[in-house]
Amino acid sequence: MHTITITSSSLRTCSGGFVRLRPAAAEVTTSLSSSSPIHQVSSGITAKFYSNSTSQQLIASSTTSRLLSVSGFAAAASVCSRNSLRRLSSSELHGSRLYSRSFAVAGLAHQLDGSSGSAVLRALAVPAGFRSGRPLGVRVLASAALGILQGGSRMASSHATENPFGSLLTDLPKPGGGTYGKYYSLPKLNDPRVDTLPYSIRYLLESAIRNCDNFQVLKADVEKILDWERTAPKQVEIPFKPARVILQDFTGVPAVVDLAAMRDAITRLGGDPDKINPLVPVDLVIDHSVQVDVARSPNALHANMELEFGRNKERFAFLKWGATAFKNMLVVPPGSGIVHQVNLEYLARVVFNSNGVLYPDSLVGTDSHTTMIDGLGVAGWGVGGIEAEATMLGQPMSMVLPGVVGFKLDGKLRTGVTATDLVLTVTQILRKHGVVGKFVEFYGKGLSQLSLADRATIANMSPEYGATMGFFPVDKVTLQYLRLTGRDEQKVEEIEAYLRANDLFIDHDKSQKESVYSAYLELDLDTVDPCVSGPKRPHDRVSLKDMKVDWQACLDNKVGFKGFAIPKDQQDKVAKFTFNGQPAELRHGSVVIAAITSCTNTSNPSVMLGAGLVAKKGTELGLEVKPWIKTSLAPGSGAVTQYLAKSGLTKYLDQQGFSLVGYGCTTCIGNSGDLNEIVAEAITENDVVAAAVLSGNRNFEGRVHPLTRANYLASPPLVVAYAFAGTVNIDFETEPIGVGKGGKAVFLRDIWPSSEEVAEVVEKSVLPEMFRSTYAHITKGNEMWNHLASPKGSQYAWDPNSTYVHEPPFFKTMTKDPPGVPSVKDAYCLLNFGDSITTDHISPAGNINKDSPAAKYLIAHGVDRKDFNSYGSRRGNDEIMARGTFANIRIVNKFLKGEVGPRTIYIPSQEKMFIYDAAQRYKEEGADTIILAGAEYGSGSSRDWAAKGPYLQGVKAVIAKSFERIHRSNLVGMGLIPLCFKTGEDAESLGLTGFERYTIHLPDIENIKPGMDVAVTTNDGKKFNCVLRFDTQVELTYFQNGGILHYVLRQLLE
Ligand code: SF4
Repeated sequence: MHTITITSSSLRTCSGGFVRLRPAAAEVTTSLSSSSPIHQVSSGITAKFYSNSTSQQLIASSTTSRLLSVSGFAAAASVCSRNSLRRLSSSELHGSRLYSRSFAVAGLAHQLDGSSGSAVLRALAVPAGFRSGRPLGVRVLASAALGILQGGSRMASSHATENPFGSLLTDLPKPGGGTYGKYYSLPKLNDPRVDTLPYSIRYLLESAIRNCDNFQVLKADVEKILDWERTAPKQVEIPFKPARVILQDFTGVPAVVDLAAMRDAITRLGGDPDKINPLVPVDLVIDHSVQVDVARSPNALHANMELEFGRNKERFAFLKWGATAFKNMLVVPPGSGIVHQVNLEYLARVVFNSNGVLYPDSLVGTDSHTTMIDGLGVAGWGVGGIEAEATMLGQPMSMVLPGVVGFKLDGKLRTGVTATDLVLTVTQILRKHGVVGKFVEFYGKGLSQLSLADRATIANMSPEYGATMGFFPVDKVTLQYLRLTGRDEQKVEEIEAYLRANDLFIDHDKSQKESVYSAYLELDLDTVDPCVSGPKRPHDRVSLKDMKVDWQACLDNKVGFKGFAIPKDQQDKVAKFTFNGQPAELRHGSVVIAAITSCTNTSNPSVMLGAGLVAKKGTELGLEVKPWIKTSLAPGSGAVTQYLAKSGLTKYLDQQGFSLVGYGCTTCIGNSGDLNEIVAEAITENDVVAAAVLSGNRNFEGRVHPLTRANYLASPPLVVAYAFAGTVNIDFETEPIGVGKGGKAVFLRDIWPSSEEVAEVVEKSVLPEMFRSTYAHITKGNEMWNHLASPKGSQYAWDPNSTYVHEPPFFKTMTKDPPGVPSVKDAYCLLNFGDSITTDHISPAGNINKDSPAAKYLIAHGVDRKDFNSYGSRRGNDEIMARGTFANIRIVNKFLKGEVGPRTIYIPSQEKMFIYDAAQRYKEEGADTIILAGAEYGSGSSRDWAAKGPYLQGVKAVIAKSFERIHRSNLVGMGLIPLCFKTGEDAESLGLTGFERYTIHLPDIENIKPGMDVAVTTNDGKKFNCVLRFDTQVELTYFQNGGILHYVLRQLLE
C-alpha cells in the first residue's frame, strides 16, 4: 500500500479556470505496507489506497468531514476545483482546451501501481477515463482539478471519490489460519435482490462495486445492476471494467501497431514513450496464421510451421518486439495452440488475487469466440479492436445491461451422443428463441452431467446462437477441471473459498434459491440426437438420421441457405479422374475436406479421443479414407497430442490421414490450404457440389474453402466417419459406411464407441502432468520463434519496406490540444448503400483480389501474387487496409445501378472507379466525404478496420437508417460522425440521390448534446434533420479529440 499526503497549503492555491499547485507546496510520499490502510494525517487531507496490478483499484479517505475524492491527490484536486469552479465562466468551462482536459483526471488516481515506490510517476502516466452520461458539473470539477498537473507538480488528481462500498471489504479467511486477502462482499450488501440475480449479472455487480469511484463507475450504476429485473428491459447502460484482454494475431497486430504508434506520437509531443503500456494483463496467442498447406504427411506439422513463419516473419518479429517492449503483455508463439483453448487450459485465472484483493476473472477478447471461457465461469466476450485497445488503456466499457435467458438442462446425454451434437442442438434452440445482445446462463441438474469441456464447447458457439455470452457458473466440475489441467491446488482452494464466500459458486446437488431470468428455456439432454449442421449455416441442424433426405432436398432447393438448385438430370453426375494412378470419382456431396479443427472441439478430450476410437475401429475393420480427401488434425494445444499418444490412438488417426498439421485455427478460419490440383479441377470442371466436414463452428459459404459449397459442422468422431464414407449423401442407419475386410459391409454403429468406452479412455489418458508440461514448454517458445530476430528498444524501428507492419498515420499530425469540432461542408457522397452493409463488406478479411488497389500496392512493393496472403494477415499495414476498405467483391453501391463490386462514381467527373481511388481523389482535392446507408449499417463481426478504413479514406460521417451497436461506437472511436435518419425517413423518402453535396450543421462543442437533432442541407436545397448518434458525453469527448486513442494519448501527455 502507498500513502500519499498532500499539505493543506496546496489546497489554497486554486485560481481561475486553471488550478495551479505550486510544486513546493505539494508533498508527496509513498510507502509500502502490508497491513491495513494507513491514515497519514497532514494538514487536513489524508489519503490511503490499495493498488493492484490489474484494476489499479484505489480506495481512499479524507480526514475532512466531507469525503472529497479518491486519493489525496484527488482530494486536493476536488477542493481546488470547488474553489475555482465559482470563478469559471461558462465559456471557460466549455473552452476546448479545458473541456478536453476535463476527462484527464479521473483515471490518474487509478493507475498507481503497487509494485514499487514510483507510484506517483506511474500515476501521471495513465489515461483518464470518463463515465458516460456524466453531468457537466462533474466534468468541470475535473477540468479545474487538472490544473494541478499543469502547475508542474508531479501531483495527479481525480474527481473520483472514495469507493462508497469500502465497508464491504472483507477478509477471506484461510482454513487453518490467516487470510487469502480481502474481497468486496456481495452478501454484506444485505440486499435480497442479490440472491435472485443471475450469476452472470452478479459478476457485473461485483465489478461495479469494486470499481465504484463515482466517476468512471457511479453508485447509481451499482443500483442499476442491483435492480436488474427492472432496469434490464429498459436497455440501460452500465460501465464494465474487465480484468484482462485477450488477443489473437490477426486482430492483435493492429492493436500492438497502435500502441507502437502511440509511443512514437507521445515522444514527438515531448512525452515519455514508456508511459504507453497496457494497464490490464494482455495475452496474445498467435494462432490464426497457420494454413494446412501440407496434410496427410508425418512432416506436415514442421512443413506448415516453416511456411507459416516464412509468410508471416515480419508480423511475428513485430509481435516478438511487442512482447518485450510492453509491460503486462504475454505473447504465446505460433505453433503453441489456439487462443481459446490456451485460455481455458492455462491463461484463465478464474479468480484474481492482486495485491491481496480478490475478484472474479473477466475479460474481453478480439475474437468472437472469446466466449469459450464462459464455460469456466469467467465472464468474457468478443469486442472490436478499438474497444479492446480502450480496455487495455484503462477505459471502462460502456455496455447495455443485458437481459439473461436462463437455459435449464436436465437429464443426461444418451450413449454415443457428443458435446458437439449438444451444442448444435442448443444453437438451433437459442437461434430460434432469439438471444442477440443477451446473456444466456445455463443452470439445472443436467449441468452436473456435463464435463467442463462440454460446457466450453457450448460457450464457444455463443456467436452462432447470437448471445453476448453463454455462461456456466463455477461449480465442482469447474474445480475438477482446474485440477485436471494442472492448476496449483492452493489456487484452486482459494478460488473455491472466494466464490463460495461471495455467492458466486453453485452446488447443483443442493437446494437453492433459483435466479430470476428474463426468459426461460429448457432442454432434456436425453432428447439430443447425433447431428450435424449445414450445409451453409451453423444453426441449420440436421439430425443424423435425416441427413440423406435433407441433402437430397438441398440439391433440389433453389439457391439459398438450404439449397443448390441442381437440376434433376444433373444430380447423379459423376466426375471421374485419376488420383495417384488410382481411379477416383466425385459426385455431389463427395467429401473433399475432413478436418478435426477448431478449439470448439479440440479442447474437449471426449470428442478428440472419440475420433481416435472411430479411426481405430474403422481401421481394424478394414476401412480406408479415400486418398483424395484432404484430412487434417489441428489440435489447440500440445496436451491433446500427449493424451492421444498415451491412449495409443494417434497411429490410427495417422493411418487414416488425420496426421497433425499444426497447432492453430486452420480449417476453422478458412486456412484450409489448397486442394490437390486434380481434385480442384474435377470439382470446377464438373461443377460438383463438393463437401467439407469439419469440427468447426462456422460454415458460411466461402469460409471453409472456395471449392466446398456444402460445409457441415460435426463432432470430431463424425468427421472421421464421414471421411470413411466419402460422402454426406448417406443414411448411416441403413447404408454401410464402407466395405471392410473380406468385403464385409461396415456400418457406423460398428465403429461408434459407447460413451462408457470414451469415458474410460479419457480417464486413463488425460493427466494433469500433460497440461503442466505443455504449458511449461510454451513459455519457453519454440526453435523457430526463438531464432526469429526482432527489433529491440521501447520504440519500434518501423521498416518502411514492410508490407505487413507499417506506422499508421493516425497520430502523425496530432497536436497536444484537441482539434475541436471538425466541420463537414459540401461533402461528396462516396458511397450510397442500402440495408445490411456488414463489416465484411466494409473491411473484408479474406483474399486480396488480383486487380484491387491493395494488389497494385503489393505488386509495386515487390510482392508476388502467391504471397499476397489475406487482408486479415495484413491488418498491421494501414496502406493495404485503407485500399482494402470497401473492397468486398459482393458490395452493392446504389450508384452503380445493380452492378456488384468495389467501385463507385467519382461525382465531379462522373467516372466509375475503385472506391479507394475515388476516396483518394476527394482527399487530394481537400473535399469532405460522407456515406449514405440503410438499416443495420456495420452488422456482422466487430472489426476495427471497418471504422479505421473509412477514416483513412477521408470519410467524415455516415448517415444511416440504423447502426450495429459496436460498429457505431467504433466509428465514434475513430472520430467519425454517426447520424441516423429520423424514424420513418431514409435517403429514398427524402429524395436523396447521393449526387448532392452535404453540409452537416453541428453546433459548437458546448451546444452539442448526445442524441440531439442535427440539420443536414444539400447544395440543391434539400434540408433534413438527423439524430446525432454520439450516445454519451464520453463519446462527445472522443469525437472532440479526434478519436478515443487520441483522447487517451492526450491524457498521458498531461
Ligand atoms: S479455432 Fe476457430 S473458433 Fe477457435 S480461435 Fe481459431 S478461428 Fe476462432
